[in-house]
Amino acid sequence: MFGVTTKKTERRSNRRNAATANAPSNPKGTSFAEATAFLTEIGKGFHVRGWVLGTSGNFSAVTSREPLRVAITSTGLDKGSLSPTQFLEVDNAVNIVRGDGRPSAEALLHLAIVRGVGAGAVLHTHSVWSTVLSGSHASQGGIAFEGYEMLKGLEGVRTHKHREWLPILENSQDMVELSDRVSKTLQASPSIHGFLLKEHGLYTWGASLQEAKRHVEILEFLMEVLVRSGAAQSA
Ligand SMILES: [Zn+2]
Repeated sequence: MFGVTTKKTERRSNRRNAATANAPSNPKGTSFAEATAFLTEIGKGFHVRGWVLGTSGNFSAVTSREPLRVAITSTGLDKGSLSPTQFLEVDNAVNIVRGDGRPSAEALLHLAIVRGVGAGAVLHTHSVWSTVLSGSHASQGGIAFEGYEMLKGLEGVRTHKHREWLPILENSQDMVELSDRVSKTLQASPSIHGFLLKEHGLYTWGASLQEAKRHVEILEFLMEVLVRSGAAQSA
């Protein structure tokens, strides 16, 4: 028994050491190389889950605050087979400062979120669950989640009794107009962790890429639970 316990302790210790060795050298920011490597992995994982099919979705991470620089996916790429060389770096007016390609039309929304809540990373998915729920709950202006243990995966949430409001915004192809509505939503509800675009998808964010990825996983989980709960009730 002692032997087993010692091995477990060693494994835990080794994992901690590995995590420390892989930590970014600059804790205040993510380098372009680190961001694009992580976003590439995120794309593969989300594609497998069916959250970014058919070149949908887009991802970004802040690489510099002053001046503002954001690593972001180029438009029209399969998120399941991204490579770090396919990312762009843009400034606060979506001018390309690094890389070849065209930024997503939704880059303006990413920048509105980065400015609005000081996010370090913004992730956008097009799942079946978000498409279904953002249509069925649009007339209510959003979806409330309450009572779920998984809510504790959202930053700052400590109890399943927390009530999380996920606003639903009308979809639009006018990104200037839509980014203005996103900014106003964030001003009105600064404690939200994400929002839905009607019959389009989810936007969520985090102080870091790790946190933003966790928020996608939590919110996608909760939306899937809500849809499947309806199916379970009618069974
Ligand atoms: Zn989209």
